[in-house]
Amino acid sequence: MHTQQQIQNNLTILQENIAQSLNKSGRTSEQLRLVAVSKTHPISSIENAVSSGLLIFGENRMQEALTKIPLLPDSLEWHFIGHLQKNKVRYCPSSFQWIHSIDSSELVQLLEKRCANTQQPLKALIQVNLSQESTKGGVWEWEELCRVAETLLSCQWLQWKGLMTIAAPQAGETKIRHTFATLYQWKEKLVQEFGNQEECTELSMGMSSDYGWAIEEGATLIRIGSAIFGERC
Ligand SMILES: *Cc1c(COP(=O)(O)O)cnc(C)c1O
Repeated sequence: MHTQQQIQNNLTILQENIAQSLNKSGRTSEQLRLVAVSKTHPISSIENAVSSGLLIFGENRMQEALTKIPLLPDSLEWHFIGHLQKNKVRYCPSSFQWIHSIDSSELVQLLEKRCANTQQPLKALIQVNLSQESTKGGVWEWEELCRVAETLLSCQWLQWKGLMTIAAPQAGETKIRHTFATLYQWKEKLVQEFGNQEECTELSMGMSSDYGWAIEEGATLIRIGSAIFGERC
């Protein structure tokens, strides 16, 4: 586990880098939210991060998240960032306020039904697999993306907020930036297609190795694990 001091040191460096990237792209800190990805890390590390002022956390496995979330303060905001299996849908709205990994209309419909049952809203991002790696989840095709967006727009409880992507980690700066720039363009195209300025505003992109480029290409949510908590447990 990481001590309070280690996490605080990591955060100081991270926040300095974030400020620099925001500066370079002429944006302000209100236009960016940091999601601290606590997967594999124990409760004690999350508590240390909370003591350092973090309030937004991301988990990618439902089973693991369900053992941690109830033991932490209610004031935290939880983002589900992994592939959501259909048999785990019922746990999502009761534990999470956001899901970044919507990858089908069917998943949208299952979640909407569950949210309606429990009267809990859920903010949703569609995951786009721009590097087309078969190991990753997400929508690949523009037409499919439009279909999922349309389904989301018809929901009462699911609130469509934008798009998410994961860049290929070893691809190098040019390709990674291209991935992020493409997500930005697809967001702009969707806004044109559906005329919905308000719904599709968020871009969840950038992890520990590439958040600087993501911020410069327009990220509004960055998902940072190891740069805060150290190597995964
Ligand atoms: C693990 C994970 C992250 C964080 O990765 P780091 O490289 O540790 O910052 C971000 N997004 C998703 C979807 C993840 O699964």
